[in-house]
Order: sequence, then C-alpha cells, then structure tokens
Amino acid sequence: MIADTPDAAAGNVDQAELAKFGALAHRWWDPESEMFGPLHRMNPLRLAHIDRIAGGLAGKRVIDVGCGGGILAESMAAKGAKVTGIDLGEKSLKVARLHLLESGVAVDYRLVSAEDAAVAEPGTYDVVTCMEMLEHVPDPASTVRACAGLAKPGGTVVFSTINRNPKSFLFAIVGAEYVLRLLPRGTHEYAKFITPSELAAHCRAAGLAMTDVTGLGYNPLTRVFALDADAGVNYFLAARRD
Ligand code: SAH
Repeated sequence: MIADTPDAAAGNVDQAELAKFGALAHRWWDPESEMFGPLHRMNPLRLAHIDRIAGGLAGKRVIDVGCGGGILAESMAAKGAKVTGIDLGEKSLKVARLHLLESGVAVDYRLVSAEDAAVAEPGTYDVVTCMEMLEHVPDPASTVRACAGLAKPGGTVVFSTINRNPKSFLFAIVGAEYVLRLLPRGTHEYAKFITPSELAAHCRAAGLAMTDVTGLGYNPLTRVFALDADAGVNYFLAARRD
C-alpha cells in the first residue's frame, strides 16, 4: 500500500502546473469543461487503445500516473482492472475520490509522486499509464524511470503526450488555445512538448523497449478524435519493461 506523501511535492513537480489543474478541479467531470472536455472526448479511444496494447485490462493491476480527476482510471476499473490512481494535485484527487461515490467504481487514489510510488511498490503493476502529464513536469525522464520501475518485468507502460514541431505548435497551441478555444490559454508550453524519439530515448534509458507509437488526430469540424498513424501532434507511446 502506498501512503499519502505530500512532501514528495518537493521533487519532480512544478507547483504552477498543479495549481492550473487545481483551480479547475471542480470541473473534472463536466464534459463541457474547456480544460477537461477534450479528455472526456478522447477517453473511449485511449481506453480501447490501452486495452488492446495491454492484451485486455480485465483482471490486470494498473497504476494511472497523473490521474487527475480519474477520467481514465475509472474507465479502466470499469473494464475490470484493479486500478490505483496517483497524482500530486490534492483538489483533483478529492474530486476523483468523491466521484467514486457517484459511479460506484473502485479506484485506489493516492497523493504520491510517481518516483515515491516506484520506491514503495517496485515491479508491481501489469500496466502503467501516464497520460497528458509528461509535458507538465520539470524532468520527464525521471517520470519515465518511475513508470518503468512500477511495471512488472514484461509489463506494459503507455504514455501520451504532445510532439514538438511547427505543426504541433500550430495545432496544439495556436489552434487549440487561441483559435478553437478547445483548451484555456496557457494550458501547454511549447518548450515542454516531447518528440517521440526523445520519449523513446527516455524509455530505453529506463529499461523499457518501445513497442508502439500511435497518433491521436482531431477533426475540429466534427469535434471527433481518431487514432491514426500521424504522431505529429498528440500521440501515444507504448513500451514493455525488459
Ligand atoms: N492523466 C489524466 C489527467 C491529465 S491532466 C487524464 O489524461 O485524464 C495532467 C495531470 O497531471 C493533472 O492532474 C496534474 O495534477 C498532474 N500532474 C502534473 N504534474 C504532476 C507531478 N509532478 N506529479 C503528479 N501529477 C502531476
């Protein structure tokens, strides 16, 4: 069991980033929320993708790193996985725990950093997910190492983040935050975006072998997300622990 350890906030965490999500935490489960609506709309797709990559989530031990209000964590639990959700955002975790009362799903939420969780529970999880978080931490390589440490040998780790190139600047910042207003301005910082090859290098250094890169495209006219081969903007990277 991982204990709540708020002191871990001294480590690989940007308090301004946590505050950004904390300020809107009451809206985690509002599908019309500017900040979190896109996560709700992409969730069925990423759930199916993770389920496929993991060879079925049912019965698996899963940890969702940077779980926020629990959009993905709850949906994985509803598929029959035994899910732990960790985040350093206190308000977000409060909302996540409260929402369990409404949904009747079981998720074990903990206020702990990925790094401390990896020390407390090394090699424990069949599946580790870390969605839309790497681009908000000061040291993404450290988060990747922690995710690798949480996985059982042979276990699956799935990340999602945003690529860094002129197209992602145009789509993820100018398009999403300024033109379409899909996300509040300032949600993302271009310099913190991570290319698939940088993420693959972090994985290799952490003893993870990359198995898949899949893009997540968005059609602004239909407001529909779709998995595709183009990892130019949003993408998933999956890896297996050696
Ligand atoms: N993974 C969730 C939420 C993504 S939003 C989803 O995709 O639905 C990013 C989340 O990362 C927020 O909940 C924020 O509190 C969390 N976060 C940011 N920096 C963190 C850190 N250093 N440690 C743990 N969580 C962090």
